[in-house]
Amino acid sequence: MIDIGHLFVCPLCREGLTSSGDGYACTSCHRHFGKANGVWDFRVEPAAAEPPLYSDPFFRRHRECLAQLHAQHYGENSMSGQLEDRFKQVARKLMETEPDFVGDIGCGTGGAFSTFGPPSRMIGVDQDIKLLEVAARRYPEATLVCCDLLRSPLRQGAFPALICLCCLEHVYWLEDSLAVMHDLLAPGGRLYVMIPTEGGLAWSTARNLFTLSVNAKISGMTNDQYRHVMRIEHCNNFEAVNSALFKFFEIERFNFWPMGIGGHHLNLIGLYSLKRRTSQMMALASKS
Ligand SMILES: [Zn+2]
Repeated sequence: MIDIGHLFVCPLCREGLTSSGDGYACTSCHRHFGKANGVWDFRVEPAAAEPPLYSDPFFRRHRECLAQLHAQHYGENSMSGQLEDRFKQVARKLMETEPDFVGDIGCGTGGAFSTFGPPSRMIGVDQDIKLLEVAARRYPEATLVCCDLLRSPLRQGAFPALICLCCLEHVYWLEDSLAVMHDLLAPGGRLYVMIPTEGGLAWSTARNLFTLSVNAKISGMTNDQYRHVMRIEHCNNFEAVNSALFKFFEIERFNFWPMGIGGHHLNLIGLYSLKRRTSQMMALASKS
């Protein structure tokens, strides 16, 4: 288990934490942060406002069915679940070092912990407490943190490695979130990213063939209504994520998978090993 005392700060005033009972307290505002059901709770009130797009009635209905959709995706014989496992094994090859610990941004139920871990070296970060509680039951030795990334307790410059897998395509506040990940990396640290080639031919075809009608049915929608939901759920296509990454990070390595060639139309995922840009380089990149 990782000692989070020196890796975390108060999400409100960014001051250090000190041990307090079975949790931590801010050395400045004295706010207490504890652990329940295996998950550190660093959520702060008021919760950040949701993007207006999320009030879409079909999107809300989709969200209400998330537990069933997850069960379908991670169930036995699920094509999409097996494919995701394969993606993670491919992504693991990006990481050539053995960092002391790895922050998993948007970790969900901890699906990448054993591939990138051991789980005892993983710090899983997500804003969905229910998914984190599942992760805690699966991997009690992992460190799990519930927070909004834009008001996170993670200390700047503290992480030798971060992973963010099949997540950035969902992130509404994409550049703000990438700026946070940039600042979290220690000198020489790496961010490993995997994104589906959302918006490309291969990915659209795979969705239409394998998941669209099953998931539409679970959510009680027509295929067209569910396509509309997916447009909201995956608000950033491949090109958008690719451009945003370039503003904050130097691309050390990039691969498409499985074809390698043919760009985002012929592949299912893009994989990145990223180094943080210096502030000066960031200013240049965002102007170019
Ligand atoms: Zn504080």
